[in-house]
Amino acid sequence: MMPLADYRGRKVVVLGLARSGAAAAKLFHQAGSAVTANDRKERDACPEASELEALGISVVCGGHPDDLVTPDTALLVKNPGIPYTAAPIRQAEALGIEIVTEVEVAGQLSPAPIVGITGSNGKTTTTTWTGELLSAAGLSPIVAGNIGRPLVDAAQEIGPDGWLVAELSSFQLKGTTDFHPRIACLLNLAETHLDYHGTMEDYVASKAKLFANLTEGDTAIFNADDAVCAQIGRASAGRQWPFSLTKRLEVGVSVEPPYPADAGGEAAGSPAVERWIVARDEGGTETRIASVDRLGIPGRHNCANALAAVAIALAAGAEPSALREPLESFHGVEHRLEFVGTFREVRYYNDSKATNPTATIMSVSSLPAPLILIAGGLDRGSDYRELIPLFRDRVKGVVALGETREKIRAVAEESGLTRVAVVEPVEDAAETLKRAVLEAAAMAGPGDIVLLSPACASWDMFPSYEVRGRIFKQSAHTL
Ligand code: ADP
Repeated sequence: MMPLADYRGRKVVVLGLARSGAAAAKLFHQAGSAVTANDRKERDACPEASELEALGISVVCGGHPDDLVTPDTALLVKNPGIPYTAAPIRQAEALGIEIVTEVEVAGQLSPAPIVGITGSNGKTTTTTWTGELLSAAGLSPIVAGNIGRPLVDAAQEIGPDGWLVAELSSFQLKGTTDFHPRIACLLNLAETHLDYHGTMEDYVASKAKLFANLTEGDTAIFNADDAVCAQIGRASAGRQWPFSLTKRLEVGVSVEPPYPADAGGEAAGSPAVERWIVARDEGGTETRIASVDRLGIPGRHNCANALAAVAIALAAGAEPSALREPLESFHGVEHRLEFVGTFREVRYYNDSKATNPTATIMSVSSLPAPLILIAGGLDRGSDYRELIPLFRDRVKGVVALGETREKIRAVAEESGLTRVAVVEPVEDAAETLKRAVLEAAAMAGPGDIVLLSPACASWDMFPSYEVRGRIFKQSAHTL
């Protein structure tokens, strides 16, 4: 996009009012543009509308009017979640009007260098962890983007000596053209969001945009264990600074000794070998950063997230010795394999974000076996049979609740488990979950682990996975 000042006196349409849209509308209004903000939702569902109107911004709710995008529109700023099939976006495309997300705008505004972090899984964990590492190293980060806070807000607050650490989704990146991070990081790529992107090619191309504008002074960080990630990173013009769980890297950040390539080969936390995170640079300097066993959050996937965060911190100029403490003290992001506490000699973990069986399998495999699992929730028609090997090998008791409780019970019994409890719903969903925690506590003995990792969305009982997770934590605390 053009410099922000060039939009003065010109029409800018902001599509989607929530959070980043409201922030972008205010910004262009301040810059002297004639802003029209539009949302398909009815006005009552757009809490930002009144504030924007009070500033003199034109706000249209309850649909997309036909005359929203006109030939004199200079720019369309879209909410990342709005599909490209929406009528105003089609109109803008037909008229040759540039379509961007707020990320493109923030990229232009930020006086600080930007770290952009993307991938299919682990973005929030890695972004949060990176923030902790940069803080510990005295590099004054602000963490924002897909993680919650609009990037334009953070870009307006940060000074030239800080680092803007941005979690970026494929939806956000698709709406960028000149976005130019100093450090770009691609964690992994899995087949996901195809309903939005249409094809895997479009999804991968959107992620690759993060690397498109790197130049010689920038750094490309990528997962060398993933062929497509490696291809994207190696094709960029930045310094190549890969990370790997399974290969010793001559240049990059890797694990020593490496993990077996087969992901199921060995669970992290296995006491058999002591592994280290090791960085090797182009000058042949080798630095041991931290012991993998001492990382604050368990699991091989979290070790990969740690490698990425370490690679970013070193690229940003952090002293290696500053990284060990925050690598060990980080207890994860809320609701993602979050350690809640030890009550009556039993450790409790909240993994409410695990809303599908794949996430539950990953989490259960990351903790010492066997454990007691609380699972169940919204029924989307799956039969949960993929949990059978997990129940056989790593679970000793199951407490089932929610719409899927009978399906989970059937799978647990078929796996040969004898300790299986089904919690029938009572009117107050919080009370139902509390009863599930009591059932699990009754099954547990000293040294055991109780894990809430539902393998299902929360909407049959709760407004969100966050509410479910918080009620679980309260219940554990009152045991
Ligand atoms: P995102 O922000 O990309 O959704 P999160 O950090 O919120 O990712 O993690 C969500 C879930 O994804 C975790 O609970 C875990 O099950 C899984 N996960 C986290 N990191 C990785 C990774 N590096 N590879 C694969 N799966 C991961």
